Amino acid sequence: MAVISVAADRLPDSVYAGRLARAAGEARARGVDALLISPSADYAYLLGYRAPALERLTCLLIPAQGSPSLILPRLEEPLARHELGALADGLEIVPCGEGADSVGEVAARLPGALRVAVQDQMWASFVLRLRAALDPAELVEAGHAMSALRRVKEEPELDRLRAAAAAADAAMLAITAERLSGRTEAEVSRRINDLLVEAGHDAADFAIVASGPNSASPHHGPGGRIIEAGDAIVLDIGGTRAGYCSDTTRTAFIGDPPPDFAALYEVLRQAQAAACAAVAPGVAAGEIDRAARQIIDEAGYGEQFFHRTGHGIGMETHEEPYLFTANPEPLVPGNAFSVEPGIYVAGQWGARIEDIVICSESGGERLNTTGTDLYRVD
Ligand code: ZN
Ligand code: ZN
Ligand code: ZN
Repeated sequence: MAVISVAADRLPDSVYAGRLARAAGEARARGVDALLISPSADYAYLLGYRAPALERLTCLLIPAQGSPSLILPRLEEPLARHELGALADGLEIVPCGEGADSVGEVAARLPGALRVAVQDQMWASFVLRLRAALDPAELVEAGHAMSALRRVKEEPELDRLRAAAAAADAAMLAITAERLSGRTEAEVSRRINDLLVEAGHDAADFAIVASGPNSASPHHGPGGRIIEAGDAIVLDIGGTRAGYCSDTTRTAFIGDPPPDFAALYEVLRQAQAAACAAVAPGVAAGEIDRAARQIIDEAGYGEQFFHRTGHGIGMETHEEPYLFTANPEPLVPGNAFSVEPGIYVAGQWGARIEDIVICSESGGERLNTTGTDLYRVD
């Protein structure tokens, strides 16, 4: 098994310096005085390491003008310096001892601020204290600024998504080659978790195994149901490799699928292929959704496809851009997202096909290369 250390995940310092500079540019463009980034994927994106979210404040302060500061608990300082290396030279590092007023340290660096953007997952306890300390400044979401950066992947990020997708494909091929009947969903799910790691992920994130009538539940939690002949099985699996996520779904059938399931599946396969083929720069995200939905609607399954067609993916499994009908946002090269229509007949069966697709200059690049035909398994 390949062991990939945290340090090996770091990109060159210049990448993070560039991201910090672009984040400040986003703050200026959006009329905010600063971005306050607590431990999260945003934080790891900007600084290249994952810091723990604690009851003591860790906060990367990126002012619209001037250089960034990193306010953190004193005991977190050695980790930060170790991980940041030379990048620390461009940051003011502000260690706070136990009982120190870390929120006050943030406020002291933002005199006269009118609008301050806080990281979307910052704990409410910090947001409320910052709001009081920064009064009368308005607090807004930093997510729009961060998403503007993170949704356009750089080449090393695309390479990591490709590698993660290849690992997920290897795990999918392995599990669909095994006998599944007679095992519980939970057993198969645990097996997939092992396969995801064996195939090169640093960690398995999820392994949905939804069999029989459970396959009609898109986010079914694998349980004690024993898989048997005549079951459709939705396998939706993913992990993280070098900081980037995989996410792929294939549908299997135990034995010969009845004609109405085979017909449903063929509609789904065509819809998913059409949506992948629609990917190109300048095409609205909503058009990808419509490409899949139109085929499913026309075949009469419209009511049974009740979720968006896809979500962006990167350092998080779900991030922008989201592929829903009403999203007019044009795709640009460097966007990476899932294309995953599904058809679910309550009480009976369901199916989903999911690939990660990159929008490139020349169109869509499908990262998952396993076949999209129904997997016949024992
Ligand atoms: Zn999902
Ligand atoms: Zn998935
Ligand atoms: Zn997905």
